Order: sequence, then structure tokens, then C-alpha cells
Amino acid sequence: MIPARADVVIVGGGSCGCVLAARLSDDPDRTVLVLEEGAAFGSASDVPREIRDAAVLPVGPESLWTTDFPARLTPDVDTTVARGRVLGGSGAVNGAYFVRARPDDFASWPASWSYEQVLPYFRAVETDADFTGDLHGNSGPIPVARVPRDRMHPLSHAFADAAECAGFVSVADLNAPGPDGVGAVPSNVRDGTRVSSFLAYLAPVLDRPNLTVAGGVAATRVVVAGDRAVGVEIAGPEGPRTISAGDVIVAAGAVRSPQLLMLSGIGPADELRRLGIDPLHDLPGVGRDFSDHPEFTVPYRFRPDLPPHTVLLETVLHTENLELRPYTAAFGAAIPGSGVPDPVLGVVLTGTRSRGRIVLDERDPRRPPLLDYRYLTDPADRKVLEEGVGFAADLLARTVGVVETGSVDVAGGRLGTSLHLSGTCRMGDDDRAVVDEWCRVRGIDGLSVVDTSVFPQVPSRGPHATAVMLAHRVATGARHGLPFPV
Ligand SMILES: Cc1cc2nc3c(=O)[nH]c(=O)nc-3n(C[C@H](O)[C@H](O)[C@H](O)COP(=O)(O)OP(=O)(O)OC[C@H]3O[C@@H](n4cnc5c(N)ncnc54)[C@H](O)[C@@H]3O)c2cc1C
Repeated sequence: MIPARADVVIVGGGSCGCVLAARLSDDPDRTVLVLEEGAAFGSASDVPREIRDAAVLPVGPESLWTTDFPARLTPDVDTTVARGRVLGGSGAVNGAYFVRARPDDFASWPASWSYEQVLPYFRAVETDADFTGDLHGNSGPIPVARVPRDRMHPLSHAFADAAECAGFVSVADLNAPGPDGVGAVPSNVRDGTRVSSFLAYLAPVLDRPNLTVAGGVAATRVVVAGDRAVGVEIAGPEGPRTISAGDVIVAAGAVRSPQLLMLSGIGPADELRRLGIDPLHDLPGVGRDFSDHPEFTVPYRFRPDLPPHTVLLETVLHTENLELRPYTAAFGAAIPGSGVPDPVLGVVLTGTRSRGRIVLDERDPRRPPLLDYRYLTDPADRKVLEEGVGFAADLLARTVGVVETGSVDVAGGRLGTSLHLSGTCRMGDDDRAVVDEWCRVRGIDGLSVVDTSVFPQVPSRGPHATAVMLAHRVATGARHGLPFPV
């Protein structure tokens, strides 16, 4: 039963939404309602095996757990991008690579998000199985572990050997500040289970009387009266209705959060008028200037008789502006229905200068918007990626014992995306910033955005660990009287 009012309504039970819901409902005097468009589960044991299994990413074309968005990576490359639509969000279906943003990444964030200030929260979210000390947590909800070198898939092992032979240093802990090199991937996997923020944070507290989690319910508009958010309109099994809210937190992910703001009249006023939406509050940066990681995948063939994979990515090489990802299985085996028959090496541009935008559909702005990535529009991005692909193919050809001789096929490679979309409702205090440093929408009281939308730019590593840290810190701020409106 969905209540008519809650002190806090959280739109989206994804990676950030689950963390916020668990931590904000910790105060028994605060009622919290989570609205999740996808499926919800009544307990951890209700989560189906295909979502738990860390060896598989259930994001293929037939997936029940994702929404697909049309995407234009470059003028020549169109594709479809999947994002999680289930409790746990994209983090419930992702690659389980749980790596922190680097200290330098926080240079683009407001001063209150310096590396020194976020480190205690990176520690608080995790229990690291491999490291202790000042950099790591030992009692947080998310379990983090690495596959030891001697238990890695032969491909990962041989790739790390080849990188070291080529002069790269071996990095024991990719979650520690330090030099580039090759190292084992920190993963939020325990006993083969991908431990999403639903499983880690929310499932253990679902029986709280002040917490309601409603699945299959989509928010269609934030209701604003004057300059204050006062509720959320929903479409659900019981038809459309309005829930009133003390505060509204939008955590619908980097595509849906800016879309929801725009559908609510909050965004670039000229664009909203063109779409037939009455502008309530002109915020030109909504949906604009996003960043993500371009990823070029180089196909090749394994030598026969290699064992099956357990985790899709066990080791990576970082060098300057690139991450090389030797995936341990063909995407056809790890992503049901994706149909990519050969294994690939992913070459990721970690610091991209090109920026994209979310384009709402003029026929019906409620439909999935176009993600216009504008990848490689900056010539420097193209140059670094092209050089990186040549270097990566060379290294792959020297990964002895597992790569079939002569099978590395750069010409057969494809440009894709790492699915790390960030910055569609950017944090800051300039004209294009959408939220302030504490994630409050500028100019509207009682309304916040807390998800990867608010990152000033995509971190140079995967965003998941940083997203969980962000939500954990914002909710902690609320509990300790920091400037957060709940
Ligand atoms: C296939 C895939 C693999 C990835 N692999 C990795 C990885 O290995 N490592 C890494 O660091 N990052 C990875 N990422 C990225 C990372 O998972 C995401 O950046 C992160 O989970 C985003 O968290 P979020 O809270 O911003 O949004 P999400 O987790 O996407 O949550 C948004 C939630 O809001 C819900 N929602 C949307 N609109 C509405 C609405 N109107 N009403 C109600 N609910 C709504 C959605 O259903 C969803 O559950 C991957 C992403 C994908 C898709």
C-alpha cells in the first residue's frame, strides 16, 4: 500500500536510492517512501539467481531488468544503451567492478568533496576482504574482494604477466592512491553473488515500519508549488495519483533524473517550451554536458580448452588516460542475447573531453530519450583512443598461452560505451550547475538529485563505488545536521 504522504519520497531504488532509503529510514521518526519503476523484492532471498550471479550481466535484449535507450555515440555509430530497472538499479545488473574514483578526480568537485573528505565515506561503505588500515573499511555493507593472481582465469593471469613484461608495475590495491599499472579488480562479489546496494543496504532493513518500498511504480512528475517541491505524481498499478512529500530526492539515474526534472518544468526553458512543457524554473544545465567512457573493443580468439569464467573482469591495466580490460569471456556468454561470439579486449578512454546531452523525444518527451554522446568530438580524445587501441592490440598479441596466434582483429573492433554516464545534473555553483554541493536543486527547495547525474564529470574509473559513497555521505549529512533539506 502506497502512503498518501511521506517525509521523504525517493524516486528510484537504484544504486544510490537503496543507500539513501536505508540510511534515512534509520531515524524512526522519519517516514521514507521509495518509488521504483522496476521490480521490487520483499527480501534478499526473493532476488532471482540471474541477478545475483556475478558471472552474468542480465542486460541483453530480452532482459526483464533493464530499460533500453537509443544512443548516438558518434554521427556514424548508433547503438542501444541498457540501464538497470529493478531494485538495486544498474548496480544490480552491472559488472561488479567496485573501484573508487582517483584523488585527482575530485579536483572537479566542490571543495567539500576533496579526496581527504570523501575517504572516510569510501571506507564506511565497504568491508574489504584483502586490505585493512587507514584506507579501507572493515564493517561497511558492501563486501569488496579481488581474485588472487593464482586463482585468476588463464587470460587474466597471462595478460597481467604480459603487462609486467612490458614494464608496467604490479598494483596490489587499485583502490589506493598510487601509480598506474596492472592490478586485480576490486569487486563487490561474495561467493559468486553480485552484492548490489539493495542486497547490502536495503534488504536488511525492509521491515522498518517507517519505510515503504513500492515496486512497479514510476514517478511521472515532481509537483512544485511556488519554489518548493511538495510531492510526486506517479503512474502505478492503481492508476495515476499524487503523493505529497516533505522532501523529494530524485535518484532515478543519469538518464531518468534529468528527464524527470524536465518533465516537471525544471530545465533549459527554451528547450522545454519547444517540447510543449511549461517551464517552471530555468536551469540550462539539466541534461547537458554529460560525460562517459568511450570503450573500443578489440576481438580475438581464445586458444581452445580454456576454463569458463567466474567474474567477467578480474584484472585491468591503467596507463595515463586509458584502461585496458581483458574480459574473461565472450559477451555472448556473459550477457545473454548479446550475440558477440569472440572474446574482446576493452580499451577505455578514462578522461574524455567530449561532452554529450540527453535529447527528449519531441513526439512524446516521456519516451526514452536519445543519449547523444558526441564521443570523440574533441580531436585529442580520438588521438588517444586510436593510439591506445594500437598499443592494446600489441599487448594482447603478446599475451601468450591464451590468445590464438594471429587472431587479434583491430579492424573488426567496435566503438561502444562503458555505461558510466555521469554529469547530467551537475554539482557546482556556475550557471550550468543544476545542484549545489549538497545535491539540492538550485532554486527549488525540498528537491535534491542524488545519483551519478550530479558528478561534475565521469570519474576516471567506474562510477559505482563513488555513487554509493555519494549517497552514503549525503544521507549521513542529513543525519548529522549538515546542510541537506531533510
Ligand atoms: C550493464 C552495466 C554494467 C556496468 N558495470 C559497472 C561496473 O562494473 N563498475 C562500475 O563502477 N560501474 C558500472 N556500471 C555503472 C554503474 O552501475 C552505474 O553508474 C550506477 O549503478 C548508477 O547508479 P544510480 O543510482 O545513479 O542509478 P541506477 O542504479 O541506474 O538507479 C536508477 C533507478 O531509478 C529507477 N527509475 C528510473 N526512473 C524512474 C521513475 N521515473 N520512477 C521510479 N523509478 C525510476 C530505475 O528503474 C533504477 O532502478 C555499469 C552500468 C551498466 C548499465
